[in-house]
Amino acid sequence: MDNSAEELLIAGPQLHMLDRFAPELLDLPAAELWRALKGPTLFRIEGRQPKPLFVSVLLHGNEDTGWQAVQSVMKEAAARGLPRTMLLFVGNIDAARANVRTLPAQNDYNRTWPGTLSEHVPEAAVMRAVIEIVRAAEPFASIDIHNNTGHNPHYACLNELSDPFLHLARLFSRTIVYFKKPLGVQSAAMAHVCPSVTVECGRVGGMAGVEHAAEFVHAALAMSHFPTKSLPESEIDLLQTRAILKIPEDATFSFDGRDADMRLRADLDHLNFSELSAGTVFGTLGGSGARRLEVVPCGDFKLRGDYFDYQTGEIRLARPAIPSMLTLDPNAIRLDCLGYLMQRIARDGTILTP
Ligand SMILES: [Zn+2]
Repeated sequence: MDNSAEELLIAGPQLHMLDRFAPELLDLPAAELWRALKGPTLFRIEGRQPKPLFVSVLLHGNEDTGWQAVQSVMKEAAARGLPRTMLLFVGNIDAARANVRTLPAQNDYNRTWPGTLSEHVPEAAVMRAVIEIVRAAEPFASIDIHNNTGHNPHYACLNELSDPFLHLARLFSRTIVYFKKPLGVQSAAMAHVCPSVTVECGRVGGMAGVEHAAEFVHAALAMSHFPTKSLPESEIDLLQTRAILKIPEDATFSFDGRDADMRLRADLDHLNFSELSAGTVFGTLGGSGARRLEVVPCGDFKLRGDYFDYQTGEIRLARPAIPSMLTLDPNAIRLDCLGYLMQRIARDGTILTP
């Protein structure tokens, strides 16, 4: 390692600021952004309404739908300009260069926002700086754009159930997920500043995700104010994540039937967003048969009773649940989690069914 690289590691990422979106960025792929930008960059792009929309993309380097959506919005704006000022945060361009979520030496760019448990890492200083600049600009709303790896519909996630948050989420999808964990995510930090959502645009590489995200950003830029009327309950499918599913770090897993502590079914991600009954099989136990999935509460509540039953050597749901973000991607499983379990909730947060 030469000296400059060592310095870079100690110093961590630095926030860069730009007040124009250069035309050469319009067609630059996410993996090439390192050629044009010096690091995580906050753009201020003037529009007709002064209260800005804050948009963040590439907090995860291999999730480039947000970047492509922004390129599409900026191409459309080339002739007429933006209807509203946009503060655009382009996050982890080093991970984008390597086409990974987060580089091994880095901390996750969507787990290091204020509220994180790792507030002393260098990435957290960048996120704090971004929040303070955005807060001072009195933003209209905030959108963070992501992809995921499993088979999922497009959906919006929020951290508060008040009307502006729900209206913003509904602008993207009628499927809306309320969550309290993981900590340190952008939308939770921004929820203290303005209505904020995270949008999940399906797998990387699909043009449908890019078009949907671009339409959403455009609609939010064009919106003059949030409706004063409440959103009717019938307009939304509201779910709350209750539990995070993890595979213990030292346990092995497979999706192709090969022997492992957890032999999971090959179509596991096709269970996402379906209402599963108790007894649904996620896989079978292999190895010593003694390992169990980790089921971690997604908030400051205790989980009552067991979520899984292992009695027959199978991994079966012990109660009804709706999974999300179940993935077959080993990197996603090791870096993040296997998926989540959700329950239907009402507008006031009470648990409905199952
Ligand atoms: Zn992500």
